[in-house]
Amino acid sequence: MARLEIDDVTKEYRSGESSVVAVQDIAVEVPDGDFLVLVGPSGCGKSTTLRMIAGLEEITEGEIRLGGRTINDVSAQERDIAMVFQSYALYPHKTVRSNMSFGLEESTELSDSAIAETVEETAAMMGIEDLLDRKPGELSGGQQQRVALGRAIVRDPDVFLMDEPLSNLDAKLRAEMRTELQHLQEQLDVTTVYVTHDQTEAMTMGDRIAVLDEGELQQVGTPLECYHEPNNLFVASFIGEPSMNFFDGTLENDALVTDYFEYPLSQESRRDLESGGDLVLGIRPEDARIGDAQQSDRRFEAEVLVVEPMGNENIIHLQFDGMAVDDEFVVTTEGVPNVSAGDRVGVEFPEPAIHLFDGAGGDAIKNRDLSFTGTPDAVLP
Ligand code: ADP
Repeated sequence: MARLEIDDVTKEYRSGESSVVAVQDIAVEVPDGDFLVLVGPSGCGKSTTLRMIAGLEEITEGEIRLGGRTINDVSAQERDIAMVFQSYALYPHKTVRSNMSFGLEESTELSDSAIAETVEETAAMMGIEDLLDRKPGELSGGQQQRVALGRAIVRDPDVFLMDEPLSNLDAKLRAEMRTELQHLQEQLDVTTVYVTHDQTEAMTMGDRIAVLDEGELQQVGTPLECYHEPNNLFVASFIGEPSMNFFDGTLENDALVTDYFEYPLSQESRRDLESGGDLVLGIRPEDARIGDAQQSDRRFEAEVLVVEPMGNENIIHLQFDGMAVDDEFVVTTEGVPNVSAGDRVGVEFPEPAIHLFDGAGGDAIKNRDLSFTGTPDAVLP
């Protein structure tokens, strides 16, 4: 077990005249036993970061430390790190037992019987003890993934590195394995870095998440910090499904004027803003309210395009008059849907729930009030 520190690390791939900066000045620490999820869209530098931690990729600038020791020049074999990949990477001709014991036989002085015991204990923990004599080809995807995890666990490493390990599984199994992995990580208490492009995995699994975009770290925080207090537009739009709604506007006197509505901003919200500045108003789908019977000057008329009843919630797609055909915003409500496509409804954006971003750089200016819990959706407009 060990604390992992990634200290201003940059990775530049050079080939001839051209160069790609895959990771730029990333700084993040993972305390001993913590679970960090690296999340971001494809190509943002997640795998490169993980591969540098593993020792599979050279570090161009900066330092990576494990348990206080700089490991930049330590070879992959000598780092006490176990990696789990999306592709499982099991040896097809070896049994589950030999797949799991192979690493230990190569890297430790343990006796055969001690290795056999460790493998059996781990297999029991992973629920694969009945599969030890099978070959990978005789296992389902979920079972193979358990073997790959088991193989990493038997090595009792300082750090687990996981690169999209669940993405080959079907949705139901993925959800099950998400919980199982999280539980396992807590039990084993091994420092873990987990890479995914899936914000649901990031939200549900990590103690903390590090959001990357174009090689740069956008935010490190608990899942709820990133959800409710995003640093910028990128984090706000990437975290959360359905995504936060955004409306471009300009501050004119005491209102945010957009193409579709004029949103009165209280003195408190306007405090640090300059008149005439470009702003983006953000609101999460669950915070907007449809059909609040109360009169409000933060309530605007919109047309319902589509209602998706999900059972636990309804995802309602709406448009303000004048929006482009492919533009829309989304409100979620609970219970049985009480609006249908074609209805004209009032939609309120309660001020404590709104976010304001700088229209030029995208930095957050005001995040939602965390004490605001909203009120239930009213019955109908
Ligand atoms: P992610 O894992 O987030 O999808 P990667 O870390 O694989 O992203 O890639 C980050 C960036 O680095 C991408 O622009 C990718 O094209 C580039 N890249 C990755 N590996 C190499 C390489 N070996 N040579 C050149 N560019 C690379």
